[in-house]
Order: sequence, then structure tokens, then C-alpha cells
Amino acid sequence: MGISHMDRKNKSVKNKRGKLYYSFQAISMIPLLIYGIVVIIFSSATFKKSMQQQVCEELKNVASLVDTLLDTAYPGNYTLVGDAALYLYKGGVNITNDYSLIDGIHERTGMDVTLFYQDTRILTTIKNWKGERIIGTQAPEQVLVDVLGEGESCFYDNVLIRETTYFGYYAPLYNDDNQIMGILFVGKPAAEVNSQVNKALSPIVIVGILALVLVCLFSIYYAGTFLSALYGLRSFFSQVATGNLSEELDPAVLKRGDELSELGRSALSMQRSLRSLIERDSLTELYNRRSGGHRMASSMEKAKSENTPFTLVIGDIDFFKNVNDTYGHQCGDMVLKNVARILRKHMKDKGYAIRWGGEEFLLVYENSRLEEANEALTAMLEEIRGACVQSGDNQIYITMTFGMACDPSKELKDLLRDADDKLYYGKNNGRNQIVTKL
Ligand code: GH3
Ligand code: MG
Ligand code: MG
Repeated sequence: MGISHMDRKNKSVKNKRGKLYYSFQAISMIPLLIYGIVVIIFSSATFKKSMQQQVCEELKNVASLVDTLLDTAYPGNYTLVGDAALYLYKGGVNITNDYSLIDGIHERTGMDVTLFYQDTRILTTIKNWKGERIIGTQAPEQVLVDVLGEGESCFYDNVLIRETTYFGYYAPLYNDDNQIMGILFVGKPAAEVNSQVNKALSPIVIVGILALVLVCLFSIYYAGTFLSALYGLRSFFSQVATGNLSEELDPAVLKRGDELSELGRSALSMQRSLRSLIERDSLTELYNRRSGGHRMASSMEKAKSENTPFTLVIGDIDFFKNVNDTYGHQCGDMVLKNVARILRKHMKDKGYAIRWGGEEFLLVYENSRLEEANEALTAMLEEIRGACVQSGDNQIYITMTFGMACDPSKELKDLLRDADDKLYYGKNNGRNQIVTKL
């Protein structure tokens, strides 16, 4: 119950998105989106403008082509002849109904062409909904002012001719006496031009949007990995803060190889230091009584559940008081440290040692029967007997007495008492020995 509650809490802490998540996403996404949208809009507008300029150039070229063709086909001036019905002549030829030239241009270029005499349409390719040419109609007012009045060639992107908006180019037509006699119009319906422009523009916009989406996705991904490392660290710290010193740090944090990994390594070493402060005895660096007791209890439980042997030993330094009394407390400490070093060395791969009291130690042999443990312990006692601590000119030698207990049917406290009884027996029967049986 307790563990699953912890797990749930841990998980919710891990996944809980905080303020930083949203600000980080905002910092990375908003400028990118604004920049991307501005670039797309600006480049589309520029592209559109240059396409329109290109159309304008085309219209101009076609206008000059029509002018040249008319002059070549019918050399001479434009004149209006007749009283009731008026006919447009160029040179000596009546061109009023001669549509072949402008229809040919219309067919080849898709552009509409109109020839105005003064302000009136005489020849045109533009037809109304009934399919009739809109001859006899007037040029738009602004065109009359600009082209007929000022004598300028003009381009308009919104000329309304019979409910259709045109991109149109209007150029004045001159007779030999340099008098403006009319206007030449070349144009294209705006809808046609716009669809042409949009067709050319759409791949550019699509590529732009795709690039923006990709960059945004990358940014979300990067922010995601960064934040998940941060959340890993947050969860780790919150576990350490609540006293859970066995929490593992997400390995992905350490693999990043950046500042967050450094933070992760520092967090791990902080956890190790805290664990050592809490679990270990400061003088000998062996497990202290509290953590050693827990560890021993769980080792025994494990041995029972897995049906593996488990041997417990209590050892005590003989006449240690004499060491203190003779050489001083500091020398006593040195001896304790040296004994701890030997115990640690001999317990390696076999189990662990605990500083149980002042000069009393507990050895836990995991996976060892009494005989195997006894063999290992005999080698350990041999080294202890031969170990010398130098104090000035003095050489300090000590011995130890051990009591061993191994009985899978016994509870831990009974096993401890059993080992303690044997130690007591050893103390009363010459010390410097290992007692396995009473
Ligand atoms: P025995 O063989 O019966 O065990 O005799 P002993 O002198 O070793 O036993 P006793 O219990 O009389 O004395 C233990 C001494 O250990 C007393 C205490 O001052 C000393 N001691 C306990 N902890 C420390 C320590 O951390 N450092 C030092 N220097 N001495 C300690
Ligand atoms: Mg003692
Ligand atoms: Mg003692």
C-alpha cells in the first residue's frame, strides 16, 4: 500500500508540468511562429508583386507588338469616316470589322485587345455574356484622364470592364502629326492573373509552412527532452528531500552530456554523501548500528525466502580498554580503524560488517554456511592477530573474540543472542578465539 502510494506520488511529480514548461514552450515557439508567418507573408507579397510586374511587362510587349503589326499591315494614319455610321480607316483600309489581327493575338496570348478611337471602343476581343463584342462603349474615366489627357501609357490592376476586373495596359495611339487619336488596350482578367500567381505561389507557401512546422516540431522535441531531464532531476530531488535515498536518477539525464548531466552527477554524489552520513559510522566507515540492523534484517528475510544459508558473527576486541588506557584514545581510534579495514577486506564478496557498539562488530555472511564462514573468519582473525598499529615507538597488537550463529529456524534476535552467548563464552575462556558451539 505504502509503496504503491509513493509510486503514484512519484509519477505525478515526474509528469506534472510546471510554469517553466509553458514558458519554455512559449519562448521557443512564439518568436518562431511570428518570424515564420512574417517571412511567409512578406515573401508571398514580394513574389506576387514581381509576378504582377512580369504580367505588366508582357502586356506592354503585346501592346507594342499590336501597334507594330497594325502599322505594318495598314501603313498610314487612323481616320474616322462617314456621317450616320462611322468607320475607322487606317491608311486607306477600313479596319472597322477587321478582327483577324486582334483575335489572332488573343488566341495566341490569351490577352484581350481593344482599339479605341478617342474614348470609344471600335475593335475589341472582349465580348458580353451574349457573345457580342462590346463595341461602341467608353473607356473608363480614369483612363481617359491619364492616357488621352496626359498622353501617358498606364498600367492598372483593377480596371472594371463590364463587371470583370482586368489587369490592363493602356497606351495612346498617335497619328503622323503627333496628335493622340485613340488608345490601345491590352489586358487580362484579374482572376486569371491571380490564379496564375497563386498557382506559382502555392508551392512556395507550402514549403515555407512545412519548414516552419518542422522547425516548430524540432523546437518542441528539444524543449521536451530538456524539460523531461529537468523533471527527472526535480523528481529525484523531491525524493531525496523526503528522505528516500535509494531513488535512482533517470539515466537519460546523465547521458545528455550537458549542464543538466553535471547537475545530475552532483545530485547523485549528494545522495551518496547523505546516504553515507546516515548509514555509515564516521570513524570506521562501516555500517552503523541503525542501518546495519535494517540491512541485516532484510538479508535474513531474503535468505529465508530464498532458502539460502545465513551466518551471523559477533566479534569484540579483547582488552581494548587497555589500549586506550595505555596509549590514549587517539591510538584506540587508530586500532578501531585498522580492525574495520581488515573486516571490510575479508567480508568483500561474502557479506558485510557492522559497527555494532564501541569495539564490538557484527559480521553478516550471506550465502555461507557455518563451516565456510568459520574458514573465512579464521583467516580474518589470523590477519587481525598479525596486524600492527604503530604509535610512536610502540607497536600495538590486538586480538579478538568471535561468537558464530547459523540456524535457519531461528528468529534474528535469537540468533543474535546465540552469537552473543558464544562471544561471552569465548571471553570467559581465554579470548582470542572463534566460538562456534557451546
Ligand atoms: P573485553 O576483552 O572484555 O572486551 O575487554 P575490553 O576492555 O575490550 O572491554 P570494555 O567493555 O571493558 O572496554 C571497551 C572499551 O572500548 C571502553 C571504551 O572506552 C572503548 N571504546 C568504545 N568506543 C570507542 C571509540 O570509539 N574509540 C576509542 N578509542 N575507544 C572506544
Ligand atoms: Mg572488548
Ligand atoms: Mg565490548
